[in-house]
Amino acid sequence: PQRGELLLQVQAVRKEFGGLVAVNDISFDIRAGDIVGLIGPNGAGKSTTFNLITGVLGLTKGAVRFRGQPVGGLSSRQIAQAGMSRTFQHVKMIPEMTVLENVALGGYLRSRSGTLKAMLRLDRSEERGLFAEAEAQLQRIGMAHQMHELAGNLALGPQRLMEIARALCTDPALLLLDEPAAGLRHQEKQALAGVLRQLKAEGLSILLVEHDMDFVMGLTDRIVVMEFGTRLIEGTPAEVQASPIVRAAYLGT
Ligand code: ADP
Ligand code: MG
Repeated sequence: PQRGELLLQVQAVRKEFGGLVAVNDISFDIRAGDIVGLIGPNGAGKSTTFNLITGVLGLTKGAVRFRGQPVGGLSSRQIAQAGMSRTFQHVKMIPEMTVLENVALGGYLRSRSGTLKAMLRLDRSEERGLFAEAEAQLQRIGMAHQMHELAGNLALGPQRLMEIARALCTDPALLLLDEPAAGLRHQEKQALAGVLRQLKAEGLSILLVEHDMDFVMGLTDRIVVMEFGTRLIEGTPAEVQASPIVRAAYLGT
C-alpha cells in the first residue's frame, strides 16, 4: 500500500455479550505507515475490539473494512490472507522446538493451505522455502543469532519478538499486536520499540493494543482511548496526554 492510503476502517462497531455492551459505537481509521495505539483501563473493550477486527468475534453492529473491503464474514485465516496479521496476548509456541521451527510452523499454519497434516507432507523444496522465509523474518527483526535456541528457553522479550516474526511470515500490510509490552523488562521494551519503529520505517502499519501508557506515547502516530466500551478521545500522543478527560479516566488524576 501507498503511504497514507486508508488501510483499516473501523466503523461504528458494537459488540454485546448477553446484556453487556462490551464495545459501543467505536470508530477509527488506520492509514498505511501509521502506528495507532488503542489504550484504556482494564475491561474497556480493547481486546474485544481487537477480536472484532481480526475476525475472532462476530460484530453485533457496524463494519470493519480492510483496503475498502468489508471483512465481516471472513474467517481469521481469510483475514490474514487479506493482509492483516496478529499476535496474541499470551505467547503461543511449542517450547521444545527451536525458534526457527516455531516461526516456520506458525508461518505455515497461517498460510492458505496450512494445516499440520499438510505440513508433514511438504516436499523438500517447499520445506526449504518455509524455513528460508522464517529465517529471513528472524533476521529482519534482529533475532537470527537466537534461531536455533529452544523457544522455551527464551526470555519473554525475545518470545514476543518471535511471535512478531511469525506474524510477518504472511507478509502483512497491517500488524496487530495485543499488549506486546506487557510483563517486559525496560530493556526488552526498548528492543521491542526499536523493532516496531523499524517495521514502520519499512512501510508496515501497526495497531498496538497496550496498557503501558509510556510505551504507546513514544511510539504511536495516533491514539484511541477507550473506557467502558466507548471512545473517550482520539488524537496524537500529545493531544491525548494533555486531555483532562483522559487524565481523569485513565490516569486517575
Ligand atoms: P480490555 O481488553 O480493554 O481489558 P475486554 O475487551 O477484554 O477489555 O472486555 C470488555 C468487557 O467485555 C469486560 O467487561 C469483559 O468482562 C467483557 N467480556 C469480554 N469478553 C467477553 C466474553 N467472551 N463474554 C462475556 N463478556 C466478555
Ligand atoms: Mg485485554
